[in-house]
Order: sequence, then C-alpha cells, then structure tokens
Amino acid sequence: MPASPTIYRTVDDLRAAVAAWRRDGLRVGMVPTMGALHSGHLELVRAARERADRVIVTIFVNPTQFAPNEDFGSYPRTEAGDVAKLTEIGVEAVFAPNANEMYPAGYATTVSLAGPAVGLETDFRPHFFSGVATVVSKLLIAGFPDVALFGEKDYQQLMVLRQMARDLRLPTEIVGLPTIREPDGLALSSRNAYLSAEERQLATTISRVMRKAAGEIQAGAAIEPALSEGRVALEAAGFRVDYLVVRNADTLAELDGSAAEPRRMLVAAWLGKTRLIDNIAV
Ligand code: AMP
Repeated sequence: MPASPTIYRTVDDLRAAVAAWRRDGLRVGMVPTMGALHSGHLELVRAARERADRVIVTIFVNPTQFAPNEDFGSYPRTEAGDVAKLTEIGVEAVFAPNANEMYPAGYATTVSLAGPAVGLETDFRPHFFSGVATVVSKLLIAGFPDVALFGEKDYQQLMVLRQMARDLRLPTEIVGLPTIREPDGLALSSRNAYLSAEERQLATTISRVMRKAAGEIQAGAAIEPALSEGRVALEAAGFRVDYLVVRNADTLAELDGSAAEPRRMLVAAWLGKTRLIDNIAV
C-alpha cells in the first residue's frame, strides 16, 4: 500500500515541512489545483513526481477567481476521492487550506496584471486572472517549490503565470504540459461534470472545429474566414461563442502577419450553462 500524503491546512505547517526537505537538499515540486481531480491533473502530478523529490498538490477552490454570478458554490469538492487518487500516484503533501487561511479577514493585497492577461478571458471574466495570480503567488510563496506545473488546457493562464513568475523574480520554474483529452477530443475539465448526456456528445464539436480551422490555416487558408466558419459551426451545434481567435502563442497579442510567428488558436464557448475553453497550436 502506498502511503497517503500528509494533509496540511496552514501555511506555517506547510513551510515547516518544506524547510525540513530543503535542509536535506531535496527538490520540491508543486501542482496547484482546485480539486475534483481528473486524468489531466494526474498527468501534471506524475510529471512533478519525475521532476522533484517531494511533491505538493494544492487543493483550493479559490473564491477570488469567481464572480458573484459564477459557480463557486456548486464547484465540485471531492477531497477524499482526490487524496485517494494522489495516494495511488504517491505524493508527499496535499495543501488544502480553508479560505480564511489564504485570505485572512481584512486582507488588502492582490496581484495586478497586464501583458498576456489583457483580452480573451479578461474580456468576459474581468476578475479572473487577478484572482488566479494572487492565489498562485501565495501558494508559491507558501511552498517555494523549485518547479510548479500547469496545463496548457488553460493556455492564457499559463502565459499569465509565466509572466508573473518572471516579473516577481519567483525562484520557481514554471512548466506547462499538453492538454489531456477524452478519446473523442474533448479536453478534460472538472466542469465537464456539469454537461448533460446530450451536451456531452455535442461538446466534442469544440475540438473538431478547432482542428478543422487550424488544418485549413496551416494549409494556407486565410485566418479570418476559417475562424468565422468555425464560429458558425459552433453556433449551429448550439454553442454561444465568447471568442474563437488566433493569437501570438508567446504574447497572446494580435498576430503581426509575419510567417515565422508562433500561433495559438483559443476558444471559449457556452453550451447551456457550462462554459468550455480549449486551445491548440496552429
Ligand atoms: P484546475 O483545477 O481546473 O484549476 O486546474 C489545475 C491545473 O490542471 C491547471 O494547471 C490546469 O491547466 C490543469 N489542467 C486542467 N485540465 C487539464 C487537462 N485536460 N490537461 C492538462 N492539464 C489540465
């Protein structure tokens, strides 16, 4: 039987554990999550396992990244099941604080962002990245890992966090890993649990539409017509599209038109009450 991870609820307790590891010269990895762990999360944990001697998985449904009308209250919370999955892989620590530990009464300090945080998700969820960056900076300062791993599934988030780590000179390497998908192409997400059986079938349209448009663009088709065809296909399948765009893969700025520019296609669209996001290289 593999050992269960130790569950830490306070920053001080986590710090004491990490300090002891550091005294022994051990390398520390961290995987920040909101729990409801699926195979996408678990791939990050396995990758952390390969890169570090001690692995911390954080489980915290971060209130500051939800707007009042969003799904903070109904977001799935499955800590016991999450810990069982982590026990199978073998991790040393779960950091699962309560909201008061992360945001003490009267807290007044947050991280503000520009650069890759401008536009896309921010146009539709203006509060979102400040909440994410604030909590991730607090988690990284609590555990001071050598390496922290994030999924390309949340591509803009990954770019925002890379920029933040650079700008704050955090001593943590930020590693991004490819999106894990269902066999039919749907990117794994804790929010897929909200989909009805019928919506779940339709949800595969997102990755199909992206792959088709990306293929056409790579074969030389003009970008805007390929994207507007994609938007029409999504709407025909019942989606409400927030955006379907191609941006510079490094900066997320609008394309400058040069052939050598790295490109990323990003999409956000609603299916009923569920908002899905995805992205692929172009
Ligand atoms: P979340 O719990 O949704 O905040 O996600 C925690 C981490 O897991 C983030 O770095 C996500 O980008 C990553 N993640 C979520 N879904 C996937 C997926 N399908 N493939 C790879 N990474 C993922």
